[in-house]
Amino acid sequence: MRACVKPANGKVEIVDIPTPEPGPGEMIVKTSMATVCGSDMHFLDEFPNEMLGALFVGSVLPEGLLMGHEGVGTVHAVGDGVSRFREGDRVMASCLVGCGKCRECMTVDHSVCTGGGRVLFGCQAEYYKVPFADVNAAIVPDGVSDEMAILATDILSTGFGAIERGDAGFGASVAMFAQGPVGLCATAGARARGCGLIIAVDALPERLEMSKRFGANVVINPKEEDPVAKIMSLTGGSGVDVAVEAVGTQATFESCTKAIRRGGVVSSVGVYGLVPQLTMPTFTAPSFLHRKVVTTLCPSGSARMESLLALIENAGVDLHPLFTHRMTLDETPKAYDLFRSKAEGVLKIAITP
Ligand SMILES: [Zn+2]
Ligand SMILES: [Zn+2]
Repeated sequence: MRACVKPANGKVEIVDIPTPEPGPGEMIVKTSMATVCGSDMHFLDEFPNEMLGALFVGSVLPEGLLMGHEGVGTVHAVGDGVSRFREGDRVMASCLVGCGKCRECMTVDHSVCTGGGRVLFGCQAEYYKVPFADVNAAIVPDGVSDEMAILATDILSTGFGAIERGDAGFGASVAMFAQGPVGLCATAGARARGCGLIIAVDALPERLEMSKRFGANVVINPKEEDPVAKIMSLTGGSGVDVAVEAVGTQATFESCTKAIRRGGVVSSVGVYGLVPQLTMPTFTAPSFLHRKVVTTLCPSGSARMESLLALIENAGVDLHPLFTHRMTLDETPKAYDLFRSKAEGVLKIAITP
């Protein structure tokens, strides 16, 4: 089969490799759509294959790291012990797969698995393997498109998770720092959850246009005005209830800490890269002691996926405008270049074999 692999940092290519076969508890999915994500850029540019291969068993072949963790397709083959899925089922799986049995899977969610869970590598290929299939995959209802299912595997779960874990409820004021694909999902999630004032911050005007479409009341371009000052003036000087950090930089993290009210929450879902070192100001008000910081990766597992699919199918959550580009699997290296450049208004790229 054809697959996109990373032979070395900064380089991806399409190669022919054997179609994977399912081991016990695993299933093989024939890809109908995959996409490129911000986390892929970290795997591509920062993390050496040796490190990833040691961390995530089976992710690195002699040809390179299997790329892509967001996919949807139909079941091609199931391994021994898989009971919830059959050949031909239309399925998706969370981008992080957990064992479903460890304490962390059972008490938090599959994204923090300590029983052999990992990133679902290999979706940018004709076929990909889902480990622990019964507890990480879900049937995609007929009423849910490939595009929406693929968003649910990662960025929709992450963006909505930022709102849930930040505990932003009915009428809450929320500020989103960065409106890339994950930040835009957080904006849509805040609106879906019944938040009140939703403020979106980003330096790209086309992204701010999308923020308004997804429910933001106010948009701020930091090239034009100071976002923290503006947020303070919009909230009578107190700050917002929740600030969402959705890109993974010190500057946006620090802005979040300054933009929340006393007792407010910084809900961080940005990926900070290889060696995150974050500081927050301690002498300004509200101080260090008055803030809560929560971090979330991507809430994962079958139950989470099923509830997001139900939300999409029944609650009218429609994020199709995020798909700005379409490419074939063979064009995946080009998709990485485009995604990295942020040119052409790119947000999500639908990749089909
Ligand atoms: Zn992702
Ligand atoms: Zn686990």
